Amino acid sequence: MDVFDIIIVGGGPIGLACGIEAEKAGLNYQILEKGCLVNSLFNYPQHMTFFSTSEKLEIGDVPFVSINPKPKRLEALEYYRRVQQQFKLKINLFEEVLTITKEGEIFTIRTSKDREYKAEHVIIAIGFYDKPNLMHIPGEELPKVRHYYNDPHYYANQKVVVVGSSNSSVDAALETYRKGAEVTMVVRKDEISSRVKYWVRPDIDNRIKEGSIKAYFNSCLTAIEEDKVHINTPDGNISLPNDFVLALTGYQPNFEFLRTLGLHLSCDDLLIPEHNEETMETNIAKLYLAGVVCGGMNTHLWFIENSRIHAKQIVTHILSEKKTS
Ligand SMILES: Cc1cc2nc3c(=O)[nH]c(=O)nc-3n(C[C@H](O)[C@H](O)[C@H](O)COP(=O)(O)OP(=O)(O)OC[C@H]3O[C@@H](n4cnc5c(N)ncnc54)[C@H](O)[C@@H]3O)c2cc1C
Repeated sequence: MDVFDIIIVGGGPIGLACGIEAEKAGLNYQILEKGCLVNSLFNYPQHMTFFSTSEKLEIGDVPFVSINPKPKRLEALEYYRRVQQQFKLKINLFEEVLTITKEGEIFTIRTSKDREYKAEHVIIAIGFYDKPNLMHIPGEELPKVRHYYNDPHYYANQKVVVVGSSNSSVDAALETYRKGAEVTMVVRKDEISSRVKYWVRPDIDNRIKEGSIKAYFNSCLTAIEEDKVHINTPDGNISLPNDFVLALTGYQPNFEFLRTLGLHLSCDDLLIPEHNEETMETNIAKLYLAGVVCGGMNTHLWFIENSRIHAKQIVTHILSEKKTS
């Protein structure tokens, strides 16, 4: 069996950026992606606009041309697809990495397609979009509760509760309201998150002020039933008739997977996987982290725009090690 120089786990923007650097360096690599190409972006809300301008999302120095300064999801999907084609990146789609073990100097990677790969180096670029932060309340498992939001049309004329006040929650509240949903926001803190895009903020503030979107602050959802929800508010417990709950409470990396690899996670609530910030190498020699997974629970630390650099850092380190060995 061939031994790859690098196996890259995850075909998101940063996994692709790692593939480009490996390709440029003439290394023998393979990207393994459990879903479609740039799977997380594919699953973002259909009409979503990035908060970054398009040049900040570029990888491999390929210009990202978009109609407006901040591109839409569809433009990003097209961009990354063209980049993958341009570099003829070696990527297997719909192949999930299940286990990675190391014997001596060689990693063995086993996948959902019952295949086995051997590699000298592994890059983990699995992002954080697969695991929603759960509320752990009764009724969360009901089909009307969604942790991913796609298209506002679906919620026309429905009574929708949006949990949270992040960018995702605010976008969902505004979009569904404009498609005729009766929207109630349930927000743990006493105001809308300060991270909400500055050009969206006045819109949500004014909709709440005029009462077209109802918001309960310092409040939390305590239970969900088929036709209603229960909310704990500063004025006591209330129940509201309800059709759908959009629990957009954020996401977290697959820590279970990271732990099975033997990675050390920080002892605080952030669970940041141990890595060298210059080389991106983890506590396991020749196993690297790239992209937003590096932030652990702090999913606001890394973006495409500031983590695409990881690809160069890692491949530079691999090449320098190869030279000295
Ligand atoms: C709604 C939203 C909007 C955002 N907007 C911006 C923005 O404007 N600008 C910006 O810079 N960043 C933005 N971000 C953050 C950043 O874009 C994303 O988190 C980005 O996708 C990170 O790239 P990544 O390659 O590190 O991770 P991902 O894109 O999440 O890629 C990880 C990939 O790994 C795959 N994978 C996971 N586990 C396995 C496995 N075991 N085997 C094989 N494959 C696996 C996943 O399917 C996924 O395709 C946004 C994030 C969200 C959620």
